[in-house]
Amino acid sequence: MTATRVLVLNSGSSSVKYQLLDMRDSSRLAVGLVERIGEETSRLKHTPLIGGGAEEREREEPIADHEAALKAVSAELAADGLGLDSPELAAIGHRVVHGGLKFSAPTVITDEVLAEIQRLVPVAPLHNPANITGIRTAQALRPDLPQVAVFDTAFHTTMPESAARYAIDVATADEHRVRRYGFHGTSHAYVSRETAKLLGKAPEDVNVIVLHLGNGASASAVRGGKCVDTSMGLTPLEGLVMGTRSGDVDPAVVFHLARVGGMSIDEVDALLNKKSGLIGLCGDNDMRVIRRRIDEGDEAAALAFDIYIHRLKKYIGAYYAVLGRVDAVAFTAGVGENAAPVREAAVAGLEELGLAVDGELNAVRSDEARLISPEYARVTVAVVPTDEELEIAQQTYALVGNRP
Ligand code: ADP
Repeated sequence: MTATRVLVLNSGSSSVKYQLLDMRDSSRLAVGLVERIGEETSRLKHTPLIGGGAEEREREEPIADHEAALKAVSAELAADGLGLDSPELAAIGHRVVHGGLKFSAPTVITDEVLAEIQRLVPVAPLHNPANITGIRTAQALRPDLPQVAVFDTAFHTTMPESAARYAIDVATADEHRVRRYGFHGTSHAYVSRETAKLLGKAPEDVNVIVLHLGNGASASAVRGGKCVDTSMGLTPLEGLVMGTRSGDVDPAVVFHLARVGGMSIDEVDALLNKKSGLIGLCGDNDMRVIRRRIDEGDEAAALAFDIYIHRLKKYIGAYYAVLGRVDAVAFTAGVGENAAPVREAAVAGLEELGLAVDGELNAVRSDEARLISPEYARVTVAVVPTDEELEIAQQTYALVGNRP
């Protein structure tokens, strides 16, 4: 029997998201999520997608750690005849947030690879430890199976030094590996390729600005299929205004809050990562709620929206200049795919740059990639749904799927 299934695991500090795909047709066999691992109220949501059914099953019970979580997932999959012990499972693909400079491509996980991911923990203290736990747990469960790491940073390793380096003392930067790595790379790779497809062109022939606007948000400039700049930096904090992250601030804000505000470094870290962005500005980070509040005349929500759009527009302009010629601007992720007012406002006033949005096309709701610019526009504006799990599964399968 040929093994054609890939399990994709995205392990966070207290959660595991998973999808099981059949790579013969890239179809999903099951999707699910374990939340609040380590708490009394852990929850597992599992949806089998075989045999026409899509009935979600939900269990609330204490799940102590990642090992227990993966065992529970395995039991749910087994109940649908999709167990992890199946010979049809070809590999497990892991989302790994930080691959540093070493990993520019998906990589079969060996002890050395795991040690390198561990070595990167100081630059990704929130994410890499959880990814490592997920990998170790999956290895223990299926030691015979290839496990592949797909890195969030990989797509950005093509950035030139001029974009990747901060203008700080080189020796200090190098000693502490301080540079711009970028994140959401799996999404930027997938969306830039899908955008080329939508234009009927090869990725090598198009320049795209990708705007990944989810709860975390980042922009990238992609020239001929290769990333040349992206808005996140050493960590995912830099760049756009996000759900709870500030994005760009003068670094002196940190010194000021420490020296004058008496805040500790950990407090400033929490402030900028968790209590800033949209939630810091208006108390909500869900764009649906913010739009509703704006419709009701709420000024704080309106200002938060304006700040969000102002930053986004600055990045569109900056990446236009970086690329010189832009063929398409692609909106993706939760906000980018669903929030028509964000797309309209981000592009408003940029007609001189060849950018425009058609009101009617922009109002269409769909899961499909689609154009939203009028025919006369020089630059195509598109909505291109991202699919990071599919991209991870495809990269994993391409690497190990056809091994005997
Ligand atoms: P994550 O970064 O957590 O993967 P997503 O890409 O799923 O985030 O995006 C989540 C965000 O998308 C929500 O916080 C919300 O702001 C936004 N969103 C989701 N659906 C809609 C919608 N219908 N209209 C406007 N915004 C939406």
